[in-house]
Amino acid sequence: MRDMLDDARLLIIDDDALTRLLAAEALRESGFTVFEADCGEEGLRMYCNVEPDLVLLDVMMPGIDGFEVCRRLREEPRGERLPIIMLTGLEDTSSIERAYDEGATDFISKPINWTLLRHRVRYVLRSANLLDELVRSEDVLANAQRIGRMGSWEWRPDGDLLQCSDTYLRLFGEDVTTFGDGHDAVVSRVYPADRGLLREALGGARHGRAYQLEYRIVRPDGAVRTMQEIAVPVFDSAGAVSSVQGTLQDITDRIEAERRIRYLAYFDSLTGLPNRQSFRETLDAMVLRAGRRSDTCAVMFLDMDRFGRINESLGQDCADQVLQLLAARLRDFSRFELGTGLGGESGDDVSVARLGGDEFALMLEGNIDENALIDIASRLLTQLQRPVRVGGHDLTLSACVGISIFPVHAGDADSLMKCAETAVSQSKREGSGGVVQLFTEQMKIASFAKLSLENALRRGLERGELRMHYQAKVDAVQNCIVGAEALVRWAHPERGLVSPAEFIPLAEEVGLIISLSEWVVREVCRQYAEWRADGLNPPPVSINLSAGHFRHVGLLELIDEALARHRIEPQQIEFELTESSLMRDAELTDRILNGFRERGLRIAVDDFGTGYSSLAYLKRFALNVVKIDRSFVNDIEDDPSDAAIVAAIVAMTRTLGIEVVAEGVETRSQAQHLVALGCNVMQGYLYSRPASAADFEALLRDGLPRLAA
Ligand code: C2E
Ligand code: MG
Ligand code: MG
Repeated sequence: MRDMLDDARLLIIDDDALTRLLAAEALRESGFTVFEADCGEEGLRMYCNVEPDLVLLDVMMPGIDGFEVCRRLREEPRGERLPIIMLTGLEDTSSIERAYDEGATDFISKPINWTLLRHRVRYVLRSANLLDELVRSEDVLANAQRIGRMGSWEWRPDGDLLQCSDTYLRLFGEDVTTFGDGHDAVVSRVYPADRGLLREALGGARHGRAYQLEYRIVRPDGAVRTMQEIAVPVFDSAGAVSSVQGTLQDITDRIEAERRIRYLAYFDSLTGLPNRQSFRETLDAMVLRAGRRSDTCAVMFLDMDRFGRINESLGQDCADQVLQLLAARLRDFSRFELGTGLGGESGDDVSVARLGGDEFALMLEGNIDENALIDIASRLLTQLQRPVRVGGHDLTLSACVGISIFPVHAGDADSLMKCAETAVSQSKREGSGGVVQLFTEQMKIASFAKLSLENALRRGLERGELRMHYQAKVDAVQNCIVGAEALVRWAHPERGLVSPAEFIPLAEEVGLIISLSEWVVREVCRQYAEWRADGLNPPPVSINLSAGHFRHVGLLELIDEALARHRIEPQQIEFELTESSLMRDAELTDRILNGFRERGLRIAVDDFGTGYSSLAYLKRFALNVVKIDRSFVNDIEDDPSDAAIVAAIVAMTRTLGIEVVAEGVETRSQAQHLVALGCNVMQGYLYSRPASAADFEALLRDGLPRLAA
């Protein structure tokens, strides 16, 4: 059978022409390709051209002899492992020895047995091939080890002898000359805290136990790398452990990547605190622990006061810095005041988290009673309230805290977090900030009621359950209608008409206000056009705008579209805004109001006197109408200071050329007082309650009834 060696290329170097001829004959017959050279010099030259797989080389030649040729061939590229068979005289042992010394692979003595020659050549070629394979696979293995940052080693416990691959040494940043050859050479380079682990594992391997282990090593340059080692014992025929063989792999990059992934999934990148997901999982474990030990544990939610304003007025960079500062204070508080912060795998404090936006949370383990919790929360607030300097501004931060306790308020992490959230939103509603609020059953009921109201409102919006009512604005001296205010109602299928005071704040809170408010604008314009089409000559109608909708980017476009669609003059529609929504971000307000002014749309300040009541902003924003809040009208007859305030507002608006309207006029006497103080235009039950579109239409047709004397 021919094998792949049969077409190998052979080079015969011999000065004897006959030997060459016969050898070439014999070898060609076997299928080899044969080249011939008649002296050493020619042989070397041909070697470079024909790149033979094997050389047959005569020892005795004129010129350079076979030994010299052999030596030179070994120095050629690819010459190192070239099979060279030397042709020597029979029994010429000194030549044979010399031939091996010069690097010959094998020899064959003259006279040559041609059959034997063929077999010898084939044998030598085959073993050369095997050697090539071996070297190649060793290279591949070494490469694989280098690429995979993996080294191999073998340790013989008897005599404490360690043998290792080059890559193994490279993993330690060392080489054969520096490393040492015993067990201690390794252990001394292992991170001190991990040495015990490795010693124990090796001890086990010595007694026949395989192991897999991760440990850290310290390189000569001080770098710490994490390694994974797998080792198996090798047994001798008597069943005793003769050696331990293992691989060592540098897994630092993998560990680092895993750490990054974990970090991104579980930590907030701005503050470095755990995020909501991480907090929830840690809390889960804490609740389980507490349950098993019949302990309590608690959650505190923190919500910054007026953070939106920092964001709006100082910009996002400053706001981010504030959040980072706050996170640091919380972390310090948890570490130094509560002594927590040992929980995380990596030593991170996992008991403090940023839940999102300006909301943070803290969890507390161990039986801490209500009073102690409130005390802790108050101390925390005191810490947070220390002034900070950010972007050249001195700021005083404050927050509200909501607390919930396991198992008193809830039995699992999710519900516990919800309770704390409910408590904190309750404390926010209470007003001024810096409030600590414990969760109560009452809140549970209220929050449930709120949730069902929210769902009902969502459905109501979809099913068209909203209605517009209109209240007349009256000139009390002329006794005629000079305007109307559009007031939204919700025709709840079970509860009847629900007041906007109940559902507008809810709609703002849960993000329904935009769609609700858009519906109002469109409906009012539609109604106005319908009245006009009926020949009623409707007076200007005002629409209440919530703060959220006022800042909504699509607002002016919506108004333009509604007015154009029904061909309504901008002067016919007025918008009412509260002082607080105007004041929230003065620059932005200016920009938005410019859009209103450019279009000739009128703006009224609603509930004037209950907020900033600032003359400066009336001027700055060039507002058209001021509506005096009902509370001043209420007591105008009995409370001289209310009367004085109304008088002042009237005087002030007159100098600025702003119209004034009094709200909530219920009695004739109130109306008379207002007229006496110079305020003729008013709105109130005395003249007309908010009425359905049909009823208001009747009022427009018939005019106001004469007031009873
Ligand atoms: P507002 O804009 O100050 O509206 C005046 C409120 O006073 C109305 O309450 C009106 O019914 C009530 N009122 C009028 N005259 C009298 C009176 O003589 N005595 C008393 N006690 N009350 C009187 P309503 O309709 O319940 O609306 C409450 C608030 O809800 C409004 O206060 C306004 O801020 C808001 N709102 C109403 N409709 C809308 C709307 O379409 N969009 C928005 N964003 N808010 C609305
Ligand atoms: Mg109003
Ligand atoms: Mg009002």
